[in-house]
Amino acid sequence: MDIPRIFTITESAHRIHNPFTPEKLATLGAALRLEPGARVLDLGSGSGEMLCTWARDHGTTGVGIDMSSLFSGQAKQRAEELGVADRVEFIHNDAVGYVADEKVDLAACLGATWIGGGIAGTIELLEKSLRPGGIILIGEPYWLRLPPTEDIARGCLAGSISDFLPLPELLTSFADLGYDVVEMVLADQDGWDRYEAAKWLTMRRWLEANPDDDFSAEVRAQLTSEPKRYAAYTREYLGWGAFALMAR
Ligand code: SAH
Repeated sequence: MDIPRIFTITESAHRIHNPFTPEKLATLGAALRLEPGARVLDLGSGSGEMLCTWARDHGTTGVGIDMSSLFSGQAKQRAEELGVADRVEFIHNDAVGYVADEKVDLAACLGATWIGGGIAGTIELLEKSLRPGGIILIGEPYWLRLPPTEDIARGCLAGSISDFLPLPELLTSFADLGYDVVEMVLADQDGWDRYEAAKWLTMRRWLEANPDDDFSAEVRAQLTSEPKRYAAYTREYLGWGAFALMAR
């Protein structure tokens, strides 16, 4: 069981698999006013940077579930490196339907809301692990500018314009599900550049190290097309943010 190989190639050197910089992740951790000992659940925890740095900076504990064996392994290493291995646990598994044994104070899913079949389903899933009065954290793209055509939406790697909402509508959609949006940290273009442009050097290095791999034609094609696609579409049209929610 694992995620498609292209992601473990292009994002193998990422600590954060979303457009947040380490500074934004720290801002979010501080914004949530986490108490020492607070329990955090993270579905699609990637390489574990959120759980590990928050455990270090705020004394939180946590469990992360991720379907990538590479990223889960990197998360465990990062926990050792930051001296928080006794406080965070990383499980390599499919997070679909995952409910924590013990209720958590903060239940998160950043950049992986397909785990619950979309935002509403993911909130419903996270809610099953959340203590009453706890916070749900969702990381999701939104339209910075509405794409004028479906072709432009696809250039942003969206299936269609309707895949995402503009920010005000996204915030309203949380309210429509019965939640107050109680905090929000948004990525910026520099953060998007860190997320996307970092893949290019990783791809180039991978190609040099794996010239005969079956996958090299696909990686070569991506390295050739991605800088322009990203600059023309994603960078101009797509925003990304983390939204903290509390049930009304
Ligand atoms: N939240 C992390 C990772 C976001 S990238 C961060 O922000 O850094 C999306 C992650 O979801 C990847 O790590 C991928 O391996 C994971 N993923 C995809 N499908 C999954 C599933 N069904 N269950 C658990 N993790 C999944």
